[in-house]
Amino acid sequence: MNTLAIDIGGTKFTVAIFNGETMLHRESQSTDREGGRDWMLSRIQQIVSTWASETPIHNCGIGFGGPVNFATQRVTLSTHVGGWQDFDLTGWVQSTLGIPAIMDNDANAGALGEALYGAGKGYTPVFYMTLSTGIGGGIIHEGRIWRGADSYAGEIGHLTIRPDGPDCLCGSHGCFERMCCGLWLEKDHGRPAHHLLNDPAFVNIYVVDLALGLKACIMLLNPARIVIGGGIAKAGDKLFLPLRRELRNQITSWSRARIDVVPAALGDDSILYGALALANERTTQ
Ligand SMILES: [Zn+2]
Repeated sequence: MNTLAIDIGGTKFTVAIFNGETMLHRESQSTDREGGRDWMLSRIQQIVSTWASETPIHNCGIGFGGPVNFATQRVTLSTHVGGWQDFDLTGWVQSTLGIPAIMDNDANAGALGEALYGAGKGYTPVFYMTLSTGIGGGIIHEGRIWRGADSYAGEIGHLTIRPDGPDCLCGSHGCFERMCCGLWLEKDHGRPAHHLLNDPAFVNIYVVDLALGLKACIMLLNPARIVIGGGIAKAGDKLFLPLRRELRNQITSWSRARIDVVPAALGDDSILYGALALANERTTQ
């Protein structure tokens, strides 16, 4: 069984082919904002058709960088690239590539990838958070995504952590994403996140808000493990050691909930592995 996995993000998209759990091909390209949706789809079609001449593809899983209505399998919208509103992406795959497809948002796909193949393997429930340009989250219980009533569970990025904080793109203010994501760190401090995280004094202040958001998750879900992916999580111990220390400060000994927070293990491929798992889950049902 060969599975096509697609990861569509705000700044790049990646396509891969898996045979079983082995990745055979992988290609990643930057997004062309001008070209929008149609440009990206034609690029995906070109890449896949080159591979498909040698490797027959049987099914497809997609992690999309924006809200997805899982029940109807339609993209709700993308705030980064135009033309995606209410788009039938799985229908496009079916009609263009001739294979069945299934899609979820990228945070849910990343969560599933890490829970089954990465840092969350053997733990349940797992909470996964992407900490990059924005913040997204996904909940995995016993190997399956917990989506909630309307496909929007896990949206930790817009939890209010500073009620008097600055305006967020969502229309609220002081959101977790507004205080902690890469986009706003750079705008607020004039330097990209990976520079800022080299400064221990900055990290000690940054982890206070980061821990406030994760504390809410720990109190609500009592996850066996929290896995953090995305560019900012690549900072490693210089972020995770102060973060765990701050979480122990904020979560008093009244709670016996574990504090197990680790970086993602699959690097830039968490979403691809999750897309693989989604496709296979659908096929074996
Ligand atoms: Zn917000």
